[in-house]
Amino acid sequence: MKIAVFGETGQVATELGRVGSTKHELRFLGRDEVDFSQPEQVAECARRLDADAVINAVAYTAVDRAEDEPDLANTVNGTSVAALAKVCAEMETPLIHISTDYVFDGCGDVPWTVEDKTAPLNAYGKSKLLGEKWISEQNMKAAVLRTSWVFSAHGNNFVKSMLRLGADRELLSIVGDQFGGPTSAHSIANTCLQLAENLNLGGPSGIYHFSGGPDVSWAEFAREIFDQAGLSVEVKNIPTSEYPTPAKRPGNSRLDCSTIARDHGIVRPDWRKDLTDVLEEMKRK
Ligand code: NDP
Repeated sequence: MKIAVFGETGQVATELGRVGSTKHELRFLGRDEVDFSQPEQVAECARRLDADAVINAVAYTAVDRAEDEPDLANTVNGTSVAALAKVCAEMETPLIHISTDYVFDGCGDVPWTVEDKTAPLNAYGKSKLLGEKWISEQNMKAAVLRTSWVFSAHGNNFVKSMLRLGADRELLSIVGDQFGGPTSAHSIANTCLQLAENLNLGGPSGIYHFSGGPDVSWAEFAREIFDQAGLSVEVKNIPTSEYPTPAKRPGNSRLDCSTIARDHGIVRPDWRKDLTDVLEEMKRK
């Protein structure tokens, strides 16, 4: 298949290049070719594409900074996604778009289903929800993949922060009352490609949840990172209230991933196994 990927440098786009290139003809469109702060550029670029499917791996992902620049976040994650979706709908090209657990308010402790009411707590979540809504409005062949806590050997993520901090600290205080599924960019890339193939063959569209299992707190995630990396760092659980950030975070980011299993046969990966692979890759580097 010919697959156009918006984004080139991010965690998921990088993994798409690794896992997809042997099977598909992938064309990456980086920021130098198309700037998502300019929706008309996105539409123009999309119109020129010759693709069997489009994957959007571009996003404004600076969660705290988005509180200060919500307009830019809304343009990149909302208006430009609308422009892309409109062209894909006109051309009848399936669109795979990545969204987030941050569309929910984080109440309770039950995993969120795809039918649950959205109520983002922060500007980033609101901007990502805008993108989802624009895609739904097009009534097109599309899969919106909500995922959480993305990690890989490159880019900025929790695993890399923990390894950096753990290198010279014996004790770290980590939030223990936010829960979710850490998800490797590698598994997201594989899932996006599978969805592109399935939609291209007429498979079902919809919003899907996809995250690694089992669900854990950030503190539990940190302990597993230190265990696997062989670092003796003690992790102390602290409540969210002791780690204030500009953007509010949801306490419950658990995602019910049953719909993607039912419609597309895609099951939750064990993030601990993916973490082993990422740490090995980092060691090799
Ligand atoms: P990254 O932050 O690693 O990558 C974001 C990509 O978007 C980069 O390639 C970046 O390019 C590009 N980008 C940002 N702004 C623009 C712009 N104005 N024009 C063109 N390109 C732009 O994101 P991830 O790979 O981690 O995330 C992939 C998806 O997963 C996103 O939709 C995100 O919302 C979602 N997600 C991520 C989570 C996480 O923990 N990271 C959690 C839940 C969902 P450049 O390098 O040039 O800046």
